[in-house]
Amino acid sequence: MNRQKHNAFTLIELLIVVAILSILALIAVPNFLMAAQRADRSACAAHLKTLGIALLSYKVDYNHFPLADGVAGAEPSPGRTELGNGPAAGGSWDGAPRSLVALRYITGDAALFCPACKKKYKGRTQNFRYAYNSSARDTFGHLGGEDHIDRVDGAFWLARCIWVPVERSFYPQGGYVYPHGDEQNENGRVENDCMENVLMSDGRVHLRNGHRDFYKAYGLPYAP
Ligand SMILES: [Zn+2]
Repeated sequence: MNRQKHNAFTLIELLIVVAILSILALIAVPNFLMAAQRADRSACAAHLKTLGIALLSYKVDYNHFPLADGVAGAEPSPGRTELGNGPAAGGSWDGAPRSLVALRYITGDAALFCPACKKKYKGRTQNFRYAYNSSARDTFGHLGGEDHIDRVDGAFWLARCIWVPVERSFYPQGGYVYPHGDEQNENGRVENDCMENVLMSDGRVHLRNGHRDFYKAYGLPYAP
């Protein structure tokens, strides 16, 4: 007689099953998260594509890109950083032009916003559109637009996911939020989200590292 054989599971077997399930969950959960991130990233890229087509159409009609309209501060910023002054500072990166909607180059204003940013900073980003390169020479900018050039192909950075939270907008180099990925600082703490979608002046959209790629474009050594 062997009763043990008829028992459904021993404790050990049960523990093994639980262990295997938790390992599977560890693999599956980040994959779901990453799938959601990828979906946001490609929705964002589609928005920037739409924005790019609208901007280039505007340029065909008016011979220059539209002027930005900033979200805060009508005064030009006193200084300029390597990353621009951010959309909240009224500097060289301002809000994507709402004139594109008013003039019917875009239907509705969805394409002016990064969906990842909107989701991540729910309730706080209604006014924060894509950062638009308002200092580009083609927008009659004067803050050094010719510097916002990708040295590789000569196209300049026209719009990006960068966003500056109000409480951090006056700390140079420290206040940028990039919605499409995380980066750890030197202490190992996740501080800045550095991956962002970037619209180039020739209409291409890239996923780029906001810090590193920008320094590379300038031909500067990377100094986070
Ligand atoms: Zn985005």
